[in-house]
Amino acid sequence: MSTSRKKRTLLLLDKLEEHYPEFKGGLSNYTSPYQLLVATILSAQSTDKQVNSVTKELFYKFPDSEAFASASIHDIEKAISKVGLYRNKAKFIHEMSKELIERHNSEIPTSLRELTSLPGIGRKTANVLLNDWFKINEGIAVDTHVKRISFRLGLTSNKDPTKIEKDLMELIPQEKWGRITHLLISHGRALCIAQNPKCNNCFLLSDCPRVGVEVE
Ligand code: SF4
Repeated sequence: MSTSRKKRTLLLLDKLEEHYPEFKGGLSNYTSPYQLLVATILSAQSTDKQVNSVTKELFYKFPDSEAFASASIHDIEKAISKVGLYRNKAKFIHEMSKELIERHNSEIPTSLRELTSLPGIGRKTANVLLNDWFKINEGIAVDTHVKRISFRLGLTSNKDPTKIEKDLMELIPQEKWGRITHLLISHGRALCIAQNPKCNNCFLLSDCPRVGVEVE
């Protein structure tokens, strides 16, 4: 990895930090790592807003792994039916909760390897939990914003999230691995939106190769 690519990435990070000093929005209503894990599972292919609209009541009814493990899948489905792919998600949450109790005595593991061995937990979900709750930077959570913007900025030439994560981990200092996800999500919501990004208003325009962006 060339030093100039790393330097350029740090410059981009500094500018993003300057514009988005605080991460606003995202998932809410959770009060434990287990609840954040469930909320993150629910957020796959759903907006945070949709997830937040169900989690308040959901966590009142099912506050912990024991409650989800002893509920029927049908009851979980009913409680999360407003989010996309709710049938699959209900099944995974139920199975994950049972395994968490059996294998980890209801304690949330704090390594990527252990987390991703639970049903329904991929690297993105595990990284969100490790970065956001435990402040452990073992990897980088690559969501749709991170994927799109890393590509446009030329930080990766890959489309596969695991490869993108690896590319970013080589470019970005480890202490920033949790932060980069928040910065790119903020930028993806504000300017570098999926369709017709607002390049003319973007503070990164002079540093951005705009890979794959159709220039009018
Ligand atoms: S210049 Fe355009 S493509 Fe590049 S980061 Fe800004 S909005 Fe995204």
